[in-house]
Amino acid sequence: MNILQEFDTITAIATPIGTGGVGVIRISGDKSFDIIENIFTKKNLAPGRIAHGWIVDGNKKIDEVIVLPFKAPNSYTGEDVIEIHCHGGINVVRNILDLVLKNGARTAERGEFTKRAFLNKKMDLSQAEAVADLIHAKTRNFAKQSAKNLSGVLGEKIKEIRTDIFNVLSKIIAGIDFPEDVVEPEYPYIISEFEKSINKIEKILAGAKSSDILRQGVKIAIVGRPNVGKSSLFNTLLNVERAIVTDIAGTTRDVLKENLDWDIAITLIDTAGIRESKEVGKVEEIGIEYSKQSAEEADLVLFMYDIAAGMTDEDKTIHDLIKDKKHLVIANKIDLLPQGVPSDSGILISTKTGAGIEELKNKIKEIVYNFSPDEMEFVTNKRQQDCLEKCRENLILTLNAAKNGELQDLISIDLKSALLYLDEITGEVITDEILNNIFDHFCIGK
Ligand code: GDP
Repeated sequence: MNILQEFDTITAIATPIGTGGVGVIRISGDKSFDIIENIFTKKNLAPGRIAHGWIVDGNKKIDEVIVLPFKAPNSYTGEDVIEIHCHGGINVVRNILDLVLKNGARTAERGEFTKRAFLNKKMDLSQAEAVADLIHAKTRNFAKQSAKNLSGVLGEKIKEIRTDIFNVLSKIIAGIDFPEDVVEPEYPYIISEFEKSINKIEKILAGAKSSDILRQGVKIAIVGRPNVGKSSLFNTLLNVERAIVTDIAGTTRDVLKENLDWDIAITLIDTAGIRESKEVGKVEEIGIEYSKQSAEEADLVLFMYDIAAGMTDEDKTIHDLIKDKKHLVIANKIDLLPQGVPSDSGILISTKTGAGIEELKNKIKEIVYNFSPDEMEFVTNKRQQDCLEKCRENLILTLNAAKNGELQDLISIDLKSALLYLDEITGEVITDEILNNIFDHFCIGK
């Protein structure tokens, strides 16, 4: 049986604050039905039945609305919930919210509705995290993947691995506790079970990099010495005059970031010229440092040089800095060399005439789409990945111990730790700090 935790009654506007067709105010907690009774023209609402009427403050009419009543535990939070669907104007929703507050609810904190859903066991923690992912998804693909987690696939997989490990642990413990009646499980059995679980975990972790890219988008940095045309390319790719373009070397001092609206979220970073020089000013030096960092954190680096000037030593030094990263070599300003250039010069473009830009875009897209497959088995976040890594470490310890035929008593200790990390993913075992950290990233009203 689900024993609901006792909480006070909370309320919030669940729709974005703005002008729209409909605005929704949500109330959750014991007093929800009493509050609506006080402010709604229809009385004795039946759970699950939509009611139409007016929100009133005494004899003042506030708005004509529909009300959706849910009785615990059959609601999003697992508590009594009332949803008021009113006209979507900023001040209409605010007036109704004020009235609900005046009648005994308090303002909900960020993510508090979902937190209650988790605490009342309506969903596990991986599903609650999927709610936030779904809302904040930067791309439609990521939204689809998050919806899969919302349906509970990750939590189910974790529980499956947990059951496998738990079964081995139970057999070990039974063997230890009742040595006369129960024989200890055989080592080859333990080893094969551990290998199976490690395998399953590694399969989930294999998608970690793609998950991160799906979640955060791909970071592309444009690097090169000053004046080769980085800002011009940045603008061309963005189609706006965002970065300042001048012909004084070192103008782009800040690292500029913009999101490209391709099918995948792409953060484009325009870096100041990377230049290993003592004479440069302090500000520019900071810019250079940022550029190195940006190149470092980028998933793809666009290394650019000025083909009219040729590949200088300075260019080569910069290329050396990034050559181990995934990168494209771009030769800019081909308009200045109408006589043609050697074919191995890189991708030939001119940001001035637009030559080669389409080809460059296609090359970038080809690489970027490879980073992020359309269909993934599981998307995970950093927290879940950390727990899985730690669980895997403990399982490897137990595997090695089993291979060395160590005492099963000892094996069971690391096995218990492995289980705890899995429980942390689904939220079976969780600290307040982790919980607050997760729900602080939600919006109010969710
Ligand atoms: P950054 O310092 O690398 O960001 O370079 P900018 O984008 O500021 O460009 C430096 C100078 O080169 C500006 O005067 C641009 O107009 C010029 N420039 C950029 N791309 C081209 C190009 O394809 N052809 C020519 N001829 N000039 C360019």
